Amino acid sequence: MKDMLLVAEEVSKAYGNYTALNKMSIQVPKQSIFGILGPNGAGKTTFIRIINQITLPDSGKIWLDGEPLQPKHVQYIGYLPEERGLYKSMTVGAQALYLAQLKGLSKKEAKRRLEYWFERLEIMGWWNKKIQELSKGMAQKIQFIVTVLHQPKLLIFDEPFSGFDPVNANLIKDEILKLKEDGATILFSTHRMESVEEMCDYMALINKSNKLIDGKVTDLKQEYKTNTYQVEIVTQQQAELTEVLTTHFNLLPNKFSSIHQGEKFTIRLKTGQTVNQLLQVLIKYGEVHHFVEQIPSVNDIFIQTVTANA
Ligand code: ADP
Repeated sequence: MKDMLLVAEEVSKAYGNYTALNKMSIQVPKQSIFGILGPNGAGKTTFIRIINQITLPDSGKIWLDGEPLQPKHVQYIGYLPEERGLYKSMTVGAQALYLAQLKGLSKKEAKRRLEYWFERLEIMGWWNKKIQELSKGMAQKIQFIVTVLHQPKLLIFDEPFSGFDPVNANLIKDEILKLKEDGATILFSTHRMESVEEMCDYMALINKSNKLIDGKVTDLKQEYKTNTYQVEIVTQQQAELTEVLTTHFNLLPNKFSSIHQGEKFTIRLKTGQTVNQLLQVLIKYGEVHHFVEQIPSVNDIFIQTVTANA
């Protein structure tokens, strides 16, 4: 518990007689990136709003840095909601300064930090523009800066990459990774599997108000792997090899491409078989040009768990 920045225990919330979140529990280690992944309507925003004390849960407990969640914790959290409002007629600089001061920074300190970030993201030229002149992605960059400016312990992003083009999404990704290196803990919600794949140390999958699985991403991949290998081999004995592989191993349909010119096989080991047993067979029949274990993607894990729970 000491190493956890955020702990949620059986948090539930209903709207009328619809349960939006059912006994949600997670543990977010300090200085990690934790992804809450689930399709639209799964309950992600409900959960995030509860952590931000915008919505009260019906039951369950939440701790922040070892203390029961309470109003003073708002200042330790930086929250970037998916629906973001800015005052359209204000200039970018005036708006950013105003929002930064709401977070408790003095005007002087706010200006100093804003200048650092505007220079860092190379948007100094936007300072005197009106908010209404900004594109969605540009406005989102300003919101991002304002969210991280007071250096909160916990950063919460709701679909942080949704409004960005690929170049800017990458830039924000790098900034989030750097914030972690500098000590922040990051929780973000998304329905995009790739974001979790690329960034998260930990994840929780939720579907229809329920958590299906959670844990360290590498552990989950280990747990959900199926001992399946992608092989490409140059052989003169294609028929014999196929026969041997079919008899002794599980031959699956091929779903991979490769630049080599040989026979492609996707092979799953049977219980008790080792990878060397497979290699020994292959080597007998030809020259192995490609041999890779299939690591389940976050998408594979999601589909497996949703299907298993259906
Ligand atoms: P997600 O963020 O995963 O897309 P939400 O937490 O926004 O999901 O929503 C979960 C479910 O709860 C949805 O079916 C949504 O319609 C419902 N819901 C969310 N907020 C409210 C509310 N204020 N009143 C009634 N229903 C709500």
